[in-house]
Amino acid sequence: MASLSPLLKQATPVVVDHASGSWIYGTDGREYLDFTTGIGVTSTGHCHPKVVEAAREQVGKVIHAQYTTVMHPPLLEFTERLGEVLPAGLDSLFFANSGSEAVEAGIRLARMATGRPNIVVFQGGFHGRTVAAASLTTAGTKFSAGFSPLMAGVHMSVFPYAYRYGWDMDTAVDFALQELDYLLMTRTAPQDTAAFLIEPALGDGGYIPTPPRFLEGLRERADRRGILLIFDEVQAGVGRTGKYWGHQHSIASPDIQIMAKGIASGFPISAIAASTELMSQGWPGSQGGTYGGNAVSAAAGVATLRVVEEEGLVENSRVRGEQLRAGLEEIKTRYPVIGDVRGLGLMQGIEFTAEDGSPDAATAAAVQQATVDQDLLTLTCGPAGNVVRLIPALVVTEREIEQGLERFDAALAAVTS
Ligand code: PMP
Repeated sequence: MASLSPLLKQATPVVVDHASGSWIYGTDGREYLDFTTGIGVTSTGHCHPKVVEAAREQVGKVIHAQYTTVMHPPLLEFTERLGEVLPAGLDSLFFANSGSEAVEAGIRLARMATGRPNIVVFQGGFHGRTVAAASLTTAGTKFSAGFSPLMAGVHMSVFPYAYRYGWDMDTAVDFALQELDYLLMTRTAPQDTAAFLIEPALGDGGYIPTPPRFLEGLRERADRRGILLIFDEVQAGVGRTGKYWGHQHSIASPDIQIMAKGIASGFPISAIAASTELMSQGWPGSQGGTYGGNAVSAAAGVATLRVVEEEGLVENSRVRGEQLRAGLEEIKTRYPVIGDVRGLGLMQGIEFTAEDGSPDAATAAAVQQATVDQDLLTLTCGPAGNVVRLIPALVVTEREIEQGLERFDAALAAVTS
């Protein structure tokens, strides 16, 4: 009898029977409050009726209309709807299936458009699992150990992670910008550098918001050196941080934006956006794929953006995020194992540290497991695995945040008593 590969590592033993809104109903009969949302994917909650309806309707019309062969209306409409919410100037879109694929598409475009080979990434960034995306990922060696050599032409610079260094934010930003200038002076010359690639808030790398001044410093350097700026909005996009796009906490805009996860509430679809002028610098046919821009996923994407708008989910993320954050700050005062609480909107991280400030992965793992016992689903992240991340659905209610905080508190009490 076949079984699932031992290469799969699961964060919980839960088997889902069905799910709705913020809730997962297990085959074990238990009702779990889901603060993982499929790793930040089910933005409008599980099985939002309008998303379900749009997908159902599309399944009956056409499922797979391969977009390099024939075009279909859902993709044209999704393109139009995304265009309405994208930063000004990003008026050309290309669609794929997963975040990793979109990251690769963005890198291909940056290299074609600039004729330059190198990409600068920032410590703690997560950009995916395919070999090229893993080459750009520095959120932990677990994403690359044992299957090198990775793609060439990737250089890592410092991320302004103030808490780790015990610095104030300004010092951390100044240091990281200086280190970037030094990298451009010593290792990858601007004329060899195609792009800076960064997440507006580190996701798998520890749930650390990227300071706005750092993004603005990158924008200024990119403009001055003819380097493209790529924002990976795969995890931080579509309201997750309390703004439509994570980078909108700053005044910096990208040349290329990468999107996936929350844009279609769980249906696999991803995209890159850039100006038509930039896209025109690649050659037709340089991007493609059998399943990219799937019709059912695109229809679900259209419904998702509509629900985000109609139900004010970006604002809900901001308000419920503030409630979650305030509750976590209060909890932190009672548990010395918590070193830092941080995040934006409904993307909040709790970093566990030992008395000397070093990462405490064992406690983070124990707390994450204990939340499952409390019927609350959470995940860990961070290079050391010592951060518990909370990623509720954007439709989460005031009462559900309260319940989540109560259950998180109970899990902490169980682990530390
Ligand atoms: N970029 C970011 C910021 C992500 O969070 C992820 C997934 N966690 C990816 C890229 C890769 O996406 P996928 O798993 O869909 O390939």
